[in-house]
Parts: sequence; C-alpha cells; structure tokens
Amino acid sequence: MSIDTEEFLIPSFLNLNLKFFSAQKQIRKFRRHKRPLVGTILPIGAELVFAAGASPIFPLRIGKFEAEKLLRGTRLAKNILGATLVGTGARLLQPQAENIINQFLNEYNKNLCNFESKSDEFKYPPEVCFATRIAYGSSLPHRDQIKLFLAWGTRCGWFSQFFQTLNNSIPVIFTDIPKSTAPHAREYMLEELQQLVTHLEKLTGNKITDEGLREKIILANNIRANYRKVLYYLKTPEKMPLSPYAYMQLIALLNISFIDFLSAIKYFNKQFLKLIKDLDSRRKIDYEGVPKIMLVPVFSGSEPDLPQIMNELGGCLIQADNLAYGMLDPIKTEGDMIHNYCDYLVKMHECWSANKILVKSWLDLANELRVDGIIFNKLIGCTSITPSYRLFKDRVRDTGIPFIDVDFNRIGENLAQIKNKLTSFMEIVKKEI
Ligand code: SF4
Repeated sequence: MSIDTEEFLIPSFLNLNLKFFSAQKQIRKFRRHKRPLVGTILPIGAELVFAAGASPIFPLRIGKFEAEKLLRGTRLAKNILGATLVGTGARLLQPQAENIINQFLNEYNKNLCNFESKSDEFKYPPEVCFATRIAYGSSLPHRDQIKLFLAWGTRCGWFSQFFQTLNNSIPVIFTDIPKSTAPHAREYMLEELQQLVTHLEKLTGNKITDEGLREKIILANNIRANYRKVLYYLKTPEKMPLSPYAYMQLIALLNISFIDFLSAIKYFNKQFLKLIKDLDSRRKIDYEGVPKIMLVPVFSGSEPDLPQIMNELGGCLIQADNLAYGMLDPIKTEGDMIHNYCDYLVKMHECWSANKILVKSWLDLANELRVDGIIFNKLIGCTSITPSYRLFKDRVRDTGIPFIDVDFNRIGENLAQIKNKLTSFMEIVKKEI
C-alpha cells in the first residue's frame, strides 16, 4: 500500500517519535538532576512515580537506535524541537523525518531481538513466554541505573515470577491488584497502594501530595482521552486522518509510549494535543476496501512484522488492548486521589481478570470499532491469556467476524508460514467487506 510521505512531516508526530528514541539522553539528564529512575513494564503506576519526583522508564524503550544517530548527524532535533517544520527548511529535512517515523517499528523491533538474546545470555529460562523474556533482557542491563521497579500482582503467575527473579538484581516493589471489585478487595488495594506510595516517597525523599498526584493524573487523563480518540477514528472509516501504514505506526507508538508516558508526561500531553489538532484537520482518507484487522492479545508481545505484513496485504492492523482492558478510562480527579487511583486499578483489572470477561471485552471492542477481522495471537508458553483461545473461538463465531490464529514464540520464527496464513485469511476478509 502506498505511503503518503507528507504525513510523516507532521511536527508533533515527529516529536513524539524523537522523544521515544531519546531514552538514553533522558536517562543522562535524570542522573544530572538526581531524579531516580523507576522501571515499569505495565501501563500503570507512572503517575505515582512522577508525583513522587522520580522518572518512570519502560526498559524496552532504552536502546541504541539508528534514529538517534541520524539525529546527531543532522540538526533535525534542534530544528524540529526548536521551531516549526512548516517552512522553507522543512522540505530539506523531509528524508530524515520520513525515515524516523517510517522506520519506527523496524528500529523498535531490532531492539526487541537484542533483548531476546540478552535474556538468553542472562540464562533466563527459554521456555517461558516472550513477554517475560524480553522484560528481563531489557531490564537487567540497566540494573545500576534503575533504582526501583514497579511490580504488579495480576492474574498472571509468570509475571509475578519474573518480578521475583528480577528482584535479585533490581529492588522491586510488589503491589497486588485484587481480581474482585468487592468492598474488602478495594480496602486491600488501598493498603497495597499506600505501601507503594511509602516506598516511592522513601526513594525520592518527596511527599506524594493529593495536589501533585491530581496534576499528573489530569495530564494522564488527557493522554488517555486523545489515545481513545485516535482509536475511535475507526468508527468513521470513511474519514480517517492518516494512511493505513502511518496510522499503524501511530497506534504502535502510542501502545508502547503509554507505559512510561515517554518519561515526560507534560511533553507527551502537549505534543499529543497538537497531533490531535492536526489529525482532526486531516480527516479525509477513505478506508473503503481496507480491511481493519484487530490483533488480540497484544500486551505480551506479538510478531513485530505483523503491521508490515498487513500493510503489504492491503489491510490495517489495530492493536487496542489498552482500550479493551479499561486502561484508557479516565481516573476521577475530585476527592482523594489515592482512593481514585485505587478504584481505577480495581476496575481495570476486572476487565481482564477472567477469560470469560476478557473475551467479552475484546469482542465488544471489535464491534464498537467495526473491525473486519480478528487475529488471535497465540503466545507460546503463556499459561494465562492464551488459554482463552478456546472460549474466544466459540464466542467469535456468534459474531460472524472472520478470525484466524497465529502462533508466536520468538521474533521471526515461522514468518513464511504466518504470511501464507494471513494471505489466505485476507482473501476471505476482502470478499466479505
Ligand atoms: S499473560 Fe501470558 S504472555 Fe503475558 S506475561 Fe503472563 S504468561 Fe506471559
């Protein structure tokens, strides 16, 4: 599918990509400013870290990116960050700018491969799921920089085990999230959160005040609202703001950046707001004949080439787990903020606490976003979410939405087989739309 190069010159889109690639630089800056680095692997808790005066970091964002070199070699960063791209100089920068966004997924994926190898080097069990392997391979090299790691007790036992292993190298603060929304579960969640707050305060020497946390949560809520908006553009596919390829790149960027808010929540919010304004003014691309394919689950990793494959097959891959799992719901900003955060966590966890609810969340979203097909990402070694496939298969048949499954274990494994499978699937989908 052809790519409209103009859309890669949207300054806010570029800025968000550049910030994504600048983790190493950010870390150096945090060190100079004596801001402790707090590791995080799930898109929860970052607001508390910011409110304590520390910086959250998603270790998979730390890497050696070509884009960074490109930035050093040109004056692109200064030009983009310092002024507007809309001007005579903009055309000269076009090749670099295009390259940065165009290569976003490739660059990120190359890094994932490194993390897989690192996890093998560190002798992390190869039979466990991809998600915990790359989490380990990306975190351990930064054990001297990351002062604390946020660990969450969710429905997944492997995840808890990963945090336990990590704790041998990086101090971990474990916060359990109950699976129920009953009053006693809420009380428990509150105690767990208080414990996390105490740890963060001890780490930074700062108090997490209600006002400070509210300020961060308002910014995060804005980001959540804009993120929802980007996904909800799909409800009117005749008026999309970006070509399918650029749209897929944007969704991938948001999916990953939402975990640590690019360690710069204010900046993220500001650039995202500008981007939405730009996107709103560009809603003239018709996705007629472009099958919209939702991938589930995406949280624990998937074959990185899928968006590219889908683009070659004339489709658009939608990754919207954050929306399905209630993570883009707003957090209340009146009253006690720790109580509000507690309510958010309990409600969010409920959306994926049991397979029955999880499958329902995916299918409700598939209907809401009017997708034309679903790919079930069967993660090998996953003992928690992959087993929901049997139920998913039964339920998705009732909806009439075409679906297919693909196995995922290691990057690049069975790629030819996946491509063949998806080619046949897309032929069926195209006949039905
Ligand atoms: S849900 Fe599955 S893939 Fe994700 S961390 Fe748990 S076991 Fe691994």
